[in-house]
This record gives sequence, C-alpha cells and structure tokens, in this order.
Amino acid sequence: MPDELLLLHEYFGHTAFRPSQQEVISHLLSGQDVLAVMPTGAGKSVCYQIPALMLEGVTLVISPLISLMKDQVTALRQNGIGAAYINSSLTREQSAEVLRRGAAGAYKLIYIAPERLETPSFQRFCQQISISMVTVDEAHCVSQWGHDFRPSYLQIARFVEGLAVRPVVSAFTATATRRVRQDIRSLLKLNRPHELVTSFNRSNLYFEVQRPEDKDEALLKLVRDRAGDSGIVYCLTRKNVEQVCALLCRHGVPATRYHAGLPTEERKKNQEDFLFDRRPVMVATNAFGMGIDKSNVNYVIHYNMPANMESYYQEAGRAGRDGSAADCILLYGPRDLRLIRYLIQNGDTREGAELTAEEREMLRRNRLRQLDQMERYCTGGGCLRERMLEYFGERLEEPCGNCSGCLAGYEDVDVTEEAQKLLSCVVRVERAGYRAGKALVYAVLQGKNTGAVSRLGLDRLSTFGLLKGLSDAHLDILTERLTERGMLLESGDSIPVLELTARAKPVLFGRQKLTVKRRKPAQPAHPALKSAADPVLLDRLKELRGRLGQRQSVPGFAIFSDAVLREICKRLPTTQKELRGISGLSTAKCDRYGEDVLAVVRAYLAEK
Ligand code: ADP
Ligand code: ZN
Repeated sequence: MPDELLLLHEYFGHTAFRPSQQEVISHLLSGQDVLAVMPTGAGKSVCYQIPALMLEGVTLVISPLISLMKDQVTALRQNGIGAAYINSSLTREQSAEVLRRGAAGAYKLIYIAPERLETPSFQRFCQQISISMVTVDEAHCVSQWGHDFRPSYLQIARFVEGLAVRPVVSAFTATATRRVRQDIRSLLKLNRPHELVTSFNRSNLYFEVQRPEDKDEALLKLVRDRAGDSGIVYCLTRKNVEQVCALLCRHGVPATRYHAGLPTEERKKNQEDFLFDRRPVMVATNAFGMGIDKSNVNYVIHYNMPANMESYYQEAGRAGRDGSAADCILLYGPRDLRLIRYLIQNGDTREGAELTAEEREMLRRNRLRQLDQMERYCTGGGCLRERMLEYFGERLEEPCGNCSGCLAGYEDVDVTEEAQKLLSCVVRVERAGYRAGKALVYAVLQGKNTGAVSRLGLDRLSTFGLLKGLSDAHLDILTERLTERGMLLESGDSIPVLELTARAKPVLFGRQKLTVKRRKPAQPAHPALKSAADPVLLDRLKELRGRLGQRQSVPGFAIFSDAVLREICKRLPTTQKELRGISGLSTAKCDRYGEDVLAVVRAYLAEK
C-alpha cells in the first residue's frame, strides 16, 4: 500500500481517496503548486493534511476564519496529529507558547490568519523552522472580485518569496469563477500550478422548492417532521430571524438564533448551543455560517430566498457535510423577490463609495441578473440540480432524481377564469382614470374596501370582490404568468403600474386558455441514502459522543460524525477489529473511544 493510503487509514479512518484528493496529493508531493476549486464537503482538508504529514517540516495553513481554524485543529488533534493555531483569540503568552513548541517540532500543521505573516515575531519563527508547504484556504479572499476580499491575503506572495527555501504552495477555494481563479494564480504568484475543478454536484443533498401559502405553517411542519435532527433556518432580515425563532420556540422546538445585531457574547453562546446540539436548530441571517464547520447538519431551510445562486449553494451546502443524506428546502414567496430587487435597486450607498457611477451601475445590473437566475431556480420547474449546476458551468447527463422537481413533477392548472377577472379589473381601474400597481388591483379583486380603494371609489367597479378569498401569493402567480406570456406589463418608474398589452385579448375574450404549472407536493425520498439506522441505537450513540465531547469541551460531531454513527448502527461492530473497519474512525479514535462504543453496541444487542 502506498504511504499516503496508510496515513489516510490510520489518521482519518478512510479506506480510499476520492479521485480529486489523489490528484491534488500526488502533485503536491511531486513539488508542484496546486490550485484546487472544490465545493464544500468535497474533502479538501485531506488534500493538504496528508502531504503535510508526509513532508519534512511544517505546513502553514492560512485561513481567514478563526472559528474554522479552531475546528480544524480540534479535528486533527482528535485524530492524533500535532497541530495548533495562532490568531487574535490567543493571548500574547499563548501565542509565544505555540511558537516555542512549534520551534521544538511539536506540530506538523500550524494554522494562522494572514495578518500574522506581517508580525516580526512570527517572521523570526519562520526563519528558525523548515516550512515545507504553505496552504492558502479560502484563496478567493485574495481577489477583489470574490465575495470576501481580505487585503492581508495580498501579503502571502511576498511572505513566501522571503523564505530561505520556497515551499510548495497549495490554494483552495469553493468559488468557481474564471476571474477569481486568475487572480488567485497571479496574486499568490503560484508557480505553474496544477489546476483542478471538482464537480459541484453533491448527490447526498436533496433539493426542494416550496411555494407555501403560509410560510410559518410550512416551516413548522418541516421542522417537526425532522425532530431530533440538527438544522439551519436562514432568513433574510434580523427581524425575520427574531420572529421565526420565537415561532419555533413557542412550539417547543429547541431553536436558537444568530444575526449581526446580537451582542457578541450572545452570538457566541448561541453558536455553541448549536454546535454542541444543546439547541440543534439555528435560525439565522447569512451572517451565520462562514466558518461553521458542523458536519451533522441534517437540513437547511431557507425561509426567505437568497439573492443569488452562489449564496444559496454555499448556505444550503452547509447540510450533509459528512456525506449523509440531507435536505435543502427553500420556501419561495414573491414578496422576498420584490424586497431583494428593491434592496438592489436602492442599494446601500456606502457599499459602492469607492466605485464610479458607471461601475456601480454595472454591479447593480449584475446583481439583478443573478436574482433572475435565482428566481428561475425557484419557479422554472424541472430538475433543480440541473439549474444549480448550470450556474457553475456544469451539465448533468440526466435529471437527478433527488429533487422536488424530479420527484414531484408538475401539473397544469387551468386559471383562465381567474386571469380574465384580473385582466378586466386592470382595464376597469384604468378606465376609471387611475394607473394602479399590483397592490391596488389585488385589493379591488379581493373586495377590500379600505384605503385607496374606497377613497378612489373603486369599490363601485364591477370587478370589486370578484376574487374574494384569493391570497396575494396566489394572485402573484397569476400576474407573473401573465407577464411571462407578455399579456401584462409592469411599467413605470417609481411604482410599477400594471398595463394590458394586445396579447391579452385572446384570453380576455375567452379564445385562449391560460394554465400555470403547479408543483405537486413532494415527499423527500433519497431512497438509497438514508440507511436504516435504528433510532434507538443512534440516539444512544449520539448521547455517548455528546458526553465524550463535553469532557473535553469539543462538539460531539468532532468525535464521531453522523455518517460514522450510522455506519456503526448498520454494521454493529462488537470487536476492535470490526470497529476499525468503519470509515471515518482513525486509529487514535478507536484507541480512545473504541471500548465505550463497543459497550453501547453490546448492550444494545444484548437487549434484542
Ligand atoms: P471540505 O473542507 O472540502 O468542506 P472536508 O475536508 O470537511 O470537506 O470533508 C468533508 C467530509 O468528507 C468529512 O466528513 C470527511 O470525513 C469526508 N471525507 C473526506 N475524505 C474522504 C475519503 N477519502 N473517504 C471518505 N470520506 C471522506
Ligand atoms: Zn432533479
């Protein structure tokens, strides 16, 4: 067996490399720089951690996120690998201690924030030790075109050049755009790097879009159906987070919350409650997640739609990191679409302060285009995964069979009569001398005799109350369909006004039918993926890992991932030898926790 495979088995408990891992590792070991674009969950860490173990000296891992460094170091230590991090969360004494031990050869991997490269004490340290590799995690931070540009990433190239011997450099990112990749190559001064882009398809994730009349009800049902699982519910605004978290708690769901408006202390506490599964459901804005590396998130629900595919992919992708089946469900509502569009159009003026008016306009248009893509994902029908991967420039051979689009299919619903009523209402309001937007037209149709309706006397129109009982969401579907078919226009500068076009006539006069596609309700299936783990044993094992973790103040999933626990339930090992055959259990873990696990399994079997 080649050395790297032995190490993989001993330190990570896996029996085989994934093809992309093998590719990265062999290039690094041959001394060639690597630029790897790998989505979350693809197994990036192993790509540099195995070479780090095999190469002579120390590997420096540059990472922008403190929480991520901590998680990685915890995981490495659990597997019996010498690793440490230095960042602003340590005191001066603690950092000095790490440097001292590092100089004495205690670590194969040292994680640092990029700012550290500029400090004299660290630079001195680097002259004393031999650095075999520099790994740049989240390498897109070097590019201004990425999402989270970090100026200190620009120091990396100079730092590498300043070392007595140039180490091999490996760069990893999950951002796939060409421009960002180009920046990474040139700004990090990679030396003829080997490049690879792994597929963004994550087949263990089930994708679904729902368009509920009542989001709260839909959310409660989804969360209750998944009681005992860990999940994230993403909301667009802080206010949404507060409301949704309160809703869940009121109904007995152990939820907590996270957004930038909370005091640091509380954010930290809530995040830990979530990590340690004391409160396994997290309600959060998109401020939550960068750097959260919880492997046992079983579902991610979007209460509101994100502004672009990239964000959706990243956020939803926090589910199922350990390869277990997990659900990504988006609750679509046209209201969110309107709000995001409004925010883009009237955007944060501080944000583009350094841009010219022209550049700002370009940015705005780009964002609107991205929003359109997101809308198509939600409303377009067909295989969701196909649409998502299209965005990353990938093509699926055939529909995936593991999304609501594939499973449920669509049914055509005849809405001709409703459409006629809506169209004639628009005409009547216009004839009455007013230019009206959706809200007013809906109010007339729904027979709401309030505000502008009564003030303008629109309650006297013959279309008043014709569609009583239909919700705004329902009417939106109709309006969108009519707009899509070019029968209705939304025009006007500040407030969009509805207008009929000549194309509306055939429907209005009953010569043509209008249908909308409506999703049939879907049942998540992922048949092959959810293995038949007995929930009784699974719960006991979860309880065990919680207890083991608590003792060392590390989250349970850092000890055993859900995937590992499921595998144990399936294989029911009763000896150390059988235990060692389980993928994801390193030798160190079998030594430390093996007997505890075996005791739980044996007790379980004895009861049967
Ligand atoms: P990334 O950093 O790319 O998001 P990780 O390195 O956290 O991904 O790995 C994701 C998951 O895949 C982890 O649970 C890890 O244990 C698992 N994994 C990684 N490599 C392998 C492998 N060769 N065989 C089986 N599982 C693997
Ligand atoms: Zn599909």
